[in-house]
Amino acid sequence: MDQIPLVDLAAAHAEIADEIRTGFDRVLARTAFVGGEEVAAFEREYAAFGGVAHCVGVANGTDAVELALRAVGVQAGDEVVLPANTFIATAGATARLGARPVLVDCLPDSYLIDPDAALAAVTAATRAVVPVHLYGLLAPVAGLAAALPSHVRVVEDAAQSQGATRDGRTPGSGGIAATSFYPGKNLGAYGDAGAVLTDDAELAATVRSLANHGSTVKYRHDIAGFNSRLDGLQAVVLRAKLARLGAWNQARRDAAVRYQELLADLAAAGRVVLPGVGEGEAHVWHLYVVRVPGADRDAVVGKLNAAGIGAGIHYPTPVHLTDAFAHLGHGRGSFPQAERAAEEILSLPLHPHLTADQQQRVVDALAGVLG
Ligand SMILES: *Cc1c(COP(=O)(O)O)cnc(C)c1O
Repeated sequence: MDQIPLVDLAAAHAEIADEIRTGFDRVLARTAFVGGEEVAAFEREYAAFGGVAHCVGVANGTDAVELALRAVGVQAGDEVVLPANTFIATAGATARLGARPVLVDCLPDSYLIDPDAALAAVTAATRAVVPVHLYGLLAPVAGLAAALPSHVRVVEDAAQSQGATRDGRTPGSGGIAATSFYPGKNLGAYGDAGAVLTDDAELAATVRSLANHGSTVKYRHDIAGFNSRLDGLQAVVLRAKLARLGAWNQARRDAAVRYQELLADLAAAGRVVLPGVGEGEAHVWHLYVVRVPGADRDAVVGKLNAAGIGAGIHYPTPVHLTDAFAHLGHGRGSFPQAERAAEEILSLPLHPHLTADQQQRVVDALAGVLG
């Protein structure tokens, strides 16, 4: 039986293969390998798509988080509040600049950062809060930003939410957001890539300078910076995929609706807990994450994988229980919602090219495994 992958990058490539080849030829003819016209055009197009004034392409999403934190003034020794339920890079980028990740729990239903917990974790040493828009759903940034004291900035981790909105608002608008174009993201490059999004010209200029050896004019170095730039070849891929992102996100939404229907009986029986979408939330379904309370989740995923279904876990270990962040001193039980999620969630295959037949097979397999 055919495999059903978690994401299908080959199907996406097949749609754009010709465009990629002619685009690569353009870059090769100009030998514009770092920066250049393709990058500038992508930055303009992505800013327009994302509803922000500025997009600064960088080398990857982890750099984007770190550079956005630096741009708003986070320094070594400062505290940065972020959710325990996230991909490790949110905490890694914070730690890399010498700031201290202050972890908070997530909400029980959306698995997104708990805004009340984030507010309660703020101290005089806090410089930023990083809401992570996990799985394609935006965390409630506007309310959080309004409630924070003036010495604390919001830096959104929008790596999983390209195209998502909440009450019409996009990541980075009125503030600053970091995103990743890792190949498996909704908008993915053919290698590493990322971007910082903001309406603030000064923040954008700071990120651009930091990412280019602290320089805006060749060989004039205003600040000590880094090398974190976007490549011309990656910009070609990103432009081709961006032109389809609206349609691809809609295909993900359609697939999610189909899962909700196909899984309704299992949900009614309490065997799976389905993801919900609230008023004003335009979800882009980077991942379709369900919970299987009362089941042996690892065994469920193992059996699905054995049946050729690329179920995954995002993520099996909350930040505080990784060896990398054990020094923060939070034992098991510190963040009960994040820990329950880590034990019970699994991600079903979901991508723009998933067919209704494939979804039926996924759901039949899951029903069989859950018994
Ligand atoms: C992918 C991801 C990142 C990091 O992006 P890279 O491009 O892999 O460095 C950061 N945060 C979240 C939530 C992610 O999913």
